[in-house]
Amino acid sequence: MTTQVLVVGAGPTGAVLALELAHHDVPCLVVERAVAPPRHPGVDRLTGHAMGVLRRLGPSSLVRRYGTGPAAPEDVEWRTRLDDEPVLVSPQPAGTGADADHRIPAAELTRRLRDELRAHPLIDLREGWTFTGLRVEPDGAVATVLDGQAGVRHSVAARYLVGCDGAQSTVRRCLEVPMESLGRPARHCSVFFRSADPRLPVANGAPVLVVVGGVTSVARGDGDSWVAHLPVAPEEPVGTDPVAMLRARLGAGLDVPEILGVAQWDDALAVAAAYRRGPVFLAGEAAHRFHPAGEHADTSLADAVDLGWKLAAAINGWGGPGLLASYESERRPSALIDREMVARALETRRRFGRLSAAGAAREVLAGVLRQEAHRPDAGALAGYAAVPGRRVRPGGHAPDARLDGGEALEDRFGRELTLVDLTGERAGAPLAAEATRRGIPVTHLPVADESVRIHWDRPLALVRPDRRVAWCADAVPGDWDAVLDLVSGKTT
Ligand SMILES: Cc1cc2nc3c(=O)[nH]c(=O)nc-3n(C[C@H](O)[C@H](O)[C@H](O)COP(=O)(O)OP(=O)(O)OC[C@H]3O[C@@H](n4cnc5c(N)ncnc54)[C@H](O)[C@@H]3O)c2cc1C
Repeated sequence: MTTQVLVVGAGPTGAVLALELAHHDVPCLVVERAVAPPRHPGVDRLTGHAMGVLRRLGPSSLVRRYGTGPAAPEDVEWRTRLDDEPVLVSPQPAGTGADADHRIPAAELTRRLRDELRAHPLIDLREGWTFTGLRVEPDGAVATVLDGQAGVRHSVAARYLVGCDGAQSTVRRCLEVPMESLGRPARHCSVFFRSADPRLPVANGAPVLVVVGGVTSVARGDGDSWVAHLPVAPEEPVGTDPVAMLRARLGAGLDVPEILGVAQWDDALAVAAAYRRGPVFLAGEAAHRFHPAGEHADTSLADAVDLGWKLAAAINGWGGPGLLASYESERRPSALIDREMVARALETRRRFGRLSAAGAAREVLAGVLRQEAHRPDAGALAGYAAVPGRRVRPGGHAPDARLDGGEALEDRFGRELTLVDLTGERAGAPLAAEATRRGIPVTHLPVADESVRIHWDRPLALVRPDRRVAWCADAVPGDWDAVLDLVSGKTT
């Protein structure tokens, strides 16, 4: 078999990568070893940014239809015991409008994404197919894949191969790429349960995240179902009696009528030493693992989108080598920053547990939290989300803006590069024409709306397919060819 791109794994990362490639008319083969979606754990809350990614590719409507709806603002309550009043409550905004945070169980999201892949004419999804081996060649990769149901082994020659095969990535092991961990991985257990115990707070119907000592419990937004993440000591047995473990940790006789499941984790904070070897790439959890406290798929989905349009640009002939090289140089630092932020937030949580166990007064605990990152996932997604009011800058997300009629500016962007032109005299038109002459697809978008000018402080900006600013200027550049060489990756 041959394919332009072989995607290994149809979790959220692999599915979004396949959809991004198809969005740019590039066909791919996706192999997924499972024949059914995972039960849990996994994606539950999708941030507004992740929803924006899905909206551009189509499936955000599925999240709306099959999820549990827009996520309400999620207060974080810090308690010493479940019975006690919170020491501190920190609110978390949930975003508003089209790209508000949403909730959808992982299994449902995976099922719906796989339906999209199956229905897409450019995507060939093979379920029950397991990637087992890899040979890297100068002009591509040859993978060995086992069709488990037919018991047949296939050899797949691909121009590019992407490992989206999760935390235990076989692709990563074949490449012999080590994971670089921050600290030692610790054992961790997640207990999924139903409880209407009134001590589990549901403020005004809005779900909350409760930190009691070292345990973080998160309401899953569908009434009375919760997940509690418990650190487990090396010698401690796991899973024999999750209710007893939960009660012991929460310091109260919690009423737990139903356990939905128990999962064990090594909560490593780890990033792959490299994201690429020749034609083979790593993306999503195959490239970085964060403690469940990170609890967001944004970093993984951003990998998929970043790599997807760059591979498509290379395959469609306008992307140079610098574009593919920039996948690692852009996405790996982002994972490293996320790792630091999650580590900092986890340390706050541990310190809170230690201080409460030592009997620190409530005022002391609240004071310590106020000085630290008292949101458990504070700071994650470094630099990726579009922040209202953010200015136009190279590498940054295109600022959110609405046209005077209310339409989102980004809905006017082209599929490939877009030259946003606020000069008022269509000064960008010859630039876009010159790009097209060179085979670089640029949509020229003149904008006169005052509502956009408020946020877009540069009259000319070239926006990438992933809504990041590739280049911007106050005037028509003297050497447009040099700009095009840079943004298409002809030069680095
Ligand atoms: C406890 C917990 C809670 C979380 N909660 C949230 C949340 O609320 N919100 C959120 O956004 N994120 C959450 N996350 C993070 C989220 O689950 C991950 O970011 C996301 O699953 C990463 O997707 P992925 O596609 O990279 O990997 P995975 O989801 O692990 O998918 C990998 C896929 O590859 C397949 N595969 C593996 N090996 C092979 C092979 N050899 N051949 C073929 N296929 C293979 C697997 O079957 C799987 O389908 C949570 C994570 C944890 C651990």
